[in-house]
Amino acid sequence: MKKRSILRRGVAASIALLIILWTSSAAIAQMDRGPKTEKTFGIGLPRDHASQLFADKDYPVFPLKPGQEAYKDIDGARMKKDVIALSQIALHYRDTVNKQWWGRFPGTDADRAGMKYMTDEFTRLGLKVESFPYILARDWRPQSWNASYTTSKGNKIELATAFPVSGTKGTGPDGVTAEALWVGIGAEPDFLGRDVKGKAVIIYSTFVPGGRSHSASDRAGLFNANARAQELGAAMVINVMAVPGNGQFQPEGGLRNIPQITISQDEGFALRDRLGAGEKVIFTLHLNVPELANVQTAWTMATLPGASDEQIVIMTHTDGYFQAATDNNSGMAGTLELARHYATMPQVQRPRTMVFIQFPDHHHGEVARGRKDVGIDATYNWSKVALKLTMEHPSETLLYMYNSNLTATNQMSSSRWNAFGSAEFERMAFEQLRDFGVSVYGVEDGPKNGNYAPSFHIINHVVYHTSLDTPDLVPAEGMSRSVRAFASIIDHVIIDHVNRMTIAQLRGPNFPPKDERGTILGAIGEQSSGSQSVTLAPK
Ligand SMILES: [Zn+2]
Repeated sequence: MKKRSILRRGVAASIALLIILWTSSAAIAQMDRGPKTEKTFGIGLPRDHASQLFADKDYPVFPLKPGQEAYKDIDGARMKKDVIALSQIALHYRDTVNKQWWGRFPGTDADRAGMKYMTDEFTRLGLKVESFPYILARDWRPQSWNASYTTSKGNKIELATAFPVSGTKGTGPDGVTAEALWVGIGAEPDFLGRDVKGKAVIIYSTFVPGGRSHSASDRAGLFNANARAQELGAAMVINVMAVPGNGQFQPEGGLRNIPQITISQDEGFALRDRLGAGEKVIFTLHLNVPELANVQTAWTMATLPGASDEQIVIMTHTDGYFQAATDNNSGMAGTLELARHYATMPQVQRPRTMVFIQFPDHHHGEVARGRKDVGIDATYNWSKVALKLTMEHPSETLLYMYNSNLTATNQMSSSRWNAFGSAEFERMAFEQLRDFGVSVYGVEDGPKNGNYAPSFHIINHVVYHTSLDTPDLVPAEGMSRSVRAFASIIDHVIIDHVNRMTIAQLRGPNFPPKDERGTILGAIGEQSSGSQSVTLAPK
């Protein structure tokens, strides 16, 4: 009896501990106030998060329709716990390894912990898990930096939100010092009559639509402002990111010949006002980026056997910047939830084998996905693959800018999407998204992770690659809607009912289609409106 009561106490204590751990992790892995800046402008994030963000319970629910009951077990709240747990790993890396450049990067303890989180769950569900170690030849990872400026009125400002852009040039120990020059959005006429040689060129850059593509970048193809400044001899480029508040931004694709950093709108507007008042401003930047070579990491594969050797392949990247809540904790959570959903079924109810592939270097060269003999590339037996899904950022809160303010809604953002295969497949995928409450927008890109098989993805991409990428902006309701729709798409491919599609039907007659974008706004738009098809600029 004594033993049992000790055991009971032990169980009670560990349950209490679990509850404490869970509540505290839920409390920690959310948005904080962010770096303190000298001045603030309008309502902004992350600093005003407490008054701007809705809780999960305040999002409208899109109820299941009759016939969709099979997807009730796909649970947004459970996936939200995964999102938070994965954020915790990144926060732990920030607090123990590098408080400036943090997230889950290949070869780090955080990489291994995030991957283990996935493989532990696959193992628990009874999937066969395999790990494939490989070496990433190099990676770009700054050790430390600081940015500050002095003004002719005697102020010295340390920039609390300065953040280097991945791949940019380090400064060496002496740093770079240069006079600031504001060139607006940095379009060609903004540079006329301005001598940027040797200057710290400041360019205001808007999200198009998010943390990666921004208006000053080459990627956006709008103004090519950053490249122009470099070409004309600037000493460094500072992008003031047009997002109200004190966020930090890592848009990737940094300038190679000179250093490039981003700063928040709060700090950028303070700078604007000083320059506008005629003050002379001198910038100093130190950016220490040691060489990093031979990074040891691993990609993984988890297999859930079906009744045939035809496959459904689900690909997920496990690396991410900052907390990485939407990019890509939300994708990882969705992947686990699909595994949970299908692992409970008898094998005969899964006509195709499900293969879950996780790779840790999406933002670091995608070696695991593309390099021959390392990972998954054209040499994989794609002829057996009925459908390839990429799980990337399936849920994000819709944000609005309102004059000088930024505020969150209690609604999901629409997703960029692509269904690559036959028109019939594309229409089926679109209709499943629609019927589960997932909105999409029209600029469809090509398939993610190669055009080897009929492919499908949706992707949200506003707050990713920023310090706003926290679980608060990954609504549980969005996770439910998206992942239920994905399962329904898989079932239209694998379940033997009227809607079942064969590999030939999924591919269509001329696979792979030359235009990698889908036809929804073409063929389907034509049918519904009777007008000519809409041609969108490829991106
Ligand atoms: Zn991603």
